[in-house]
Amino acid sequence: MKLSEIGVLTPELILNAKEAFQTPFYLYDEAIIQKKIDDVLAMPNAYGLTVSFAMKSNSNQALLQMIVERGLELDCSSMNEARRAQMAGIPYSKMMLTTQEVPRGNDQEDLHKMMLKGLEYNVCSIEQLHQIADFAAENNQALSMRVHPGKGAGETRTRNTGSKYSSFGVHLTDVEEAVTYAKEKGVHFNQIHVHIGSGGDPEAWRENIDLELSFVEKYFPDVEIVNLGGGFKEGRMPGETVADIQDLGNYAKLRFKEYYGRNNKKLRMEIEPGTYLVANAGYLVTTVIDKKHTGPDGFEFLVLDGGMEANTRPAMYGSEHPFYVISQNGSLLSSDFHNTDSELKEINIVGKCCESGDSQTLDAVGSIVPRKMADPEIGDLVVIGGTGAYCSTMSPYNYNSHAQIPEILLRTNGRLDVIRKRQTLQQMIQNEIPLKSMES
Ligand SMILES: *Cc1c(COP(=O)(O)O)cnc(C)c1O
Repeated sequence: MKLSEIGVLTPELILNAKEAFQTPFYLYDEAIIQKKIDDVLAMPNAYGLTVSFAMKSNSNQALLQMIVERGLELDCSSMNEARRAQMAGIPYSKMMLTTQEVPRGNDQEDLHKMMLKGLEYNVCSIEQLHQIADFAAENNQALSMRVHPGKGAGETRTRNTGSKYSSFGVHLTDVEEAVTYAKEKGVHFNQIHVHIGSGGDPEAWRENIDLELSFVEKYFPDVEIVNLGGGFKEGRMPGETVADIQDLGNYAKLRFKEYYGRNNKKLRMEIEPGTYLVANAGYLVTTVIDKKHTGPDGFEFLVLDGGMEANTRPAMYGSEHPFYVISQNGSLLSSDFHNTDSELKEINIVGKCCESGDSQTLDAVGSIVPRKMADPEIGDLVVIGGTGAYCSTMSPYNYNSHAQIPEILLRTNGRLDVIRKRQTLQQMIQNEIPLKSMES
């Protein structure tokens, strides 16, 4: 029995992996990533499409290499993301940098070198533009600009980004000033970028296309690329809405064609999915190490050997992830996606951190909400799905001095490859300096 229709992972393969690597670990199903890549590359478009993977969602170099091999580029959220992608053998010419950092000093010199090697710099503030303008003009480097769509996207249902509570990008009310400044300096923008946020309603994404094209038309008649950002909705739980890439592409295609009709300009489209490509390819494999309860009026708890230090999304956002309960002999006892004959109980799942927020069953305000699942034995497995994006990269893994856990890639032919080893205790403390050495 496969855990996902589009993947190859089975309970049996999970047991094999547990035997070989010990829990907890992340297990990525390559078949799912490949299928998702097929989906985004087939997105309808009018005059060309570039797909960049938002590497902050998962920055393991093996995955980056696999994704770039398919013809995708990279969306980097920091100088270090660009550097580590380059260390993975990916050329700067396949990256765009969109960062809150304002590179100065050595970082600025590094940025210049990266740009001369082809990195596209997406300025996200007036200050960033001021810092880079002379270099860009002198070296004939076209820039991209991330625009904060302000009021427009605030009217959509997207949580947070695009609203006045979000600080990302040059605010629409500053764009005129930025354009005037760039003209004086002789700086050219070849790309305009808006990222409206993650996990929003696909409808918000459609509205953003209209909004973005409207200000491109008004302020940037010379750009060649319109970047619509990431934020394609993926459903981790049954019944959640999933972005329809075909439908969104058809909508964008229509709007880009109309733009051509009005302006005689063929714009290339760029998108930056993170979640959509990798979220559902990732499984956090854990073992039940203890069972507890809080009295007759209380709750049943399962204690797993992996929790918030490996998947902090429930604590951070109240996100729900699907659970697969698997017995020690490999039968699927329950799952949010499969019908099984086990009796289901209301259970809370906690991790091994001394922190009451270390639970995988939290709501958006941090209260524990029990979930219906099979009641496993100590030693059985609980696999937490939807953990391929913003888990390995975002988690506070050394809290309680737990070690950063391994990442395993399940290849399409069934082979299990280690793509990151478990951190050792020595590695955890290697940068600390003992008190004694300072007294000598
Ligand atoms: C985070 C981010 C993305 C990816 O968002 P997802 O919701 O993971 O698709 C794309 N572009 C930028 C600029 C981002 O910051």
